[in-house]
Amino acid sequence: MTISNDMTTCKNCGWVHFAVSRDYIKKQTKEFAAFWNNSSIKTKLLYMPLGTKESDLPERYNEQKHSERYLRCFKCGDSYKNFRKSKEKDSPVGCTIQPILDYKE
Ligand SMILES: [Zn+2]
Repeated sequence: MTISNDMTTCKNCGWVHFAVSRDYIKKQTKEFAAFWNNSSIKTKLLYMPLGTKESDLPERYNEQKHSERYLRCFKCGDSYKNFRKSKEKDSPVGCTIQPILDYKE
């Protein structure tokens, strides 16, 4: 995989993410919440953990929980502050890269 400037690596476990800004997180969270809040029950369930029942669905999408996912490593849960710029060979070819708040923010 080609490493670009916006890619960061978790110092704890080595997982590669792409760095995003606080503004991006705010915008993405608002947009997703608006989409989810206006979706059918069937669609809402697609975005919940497996086994969630209609009666378990929250009335409104939890924006705080959504945006907090950007503050932790996807793999080990470490803070976005414990990241460094990615180097070549940090990430294998063909893997999925998750977003995280830029450690420089
Ligand atoms: Zn990690």
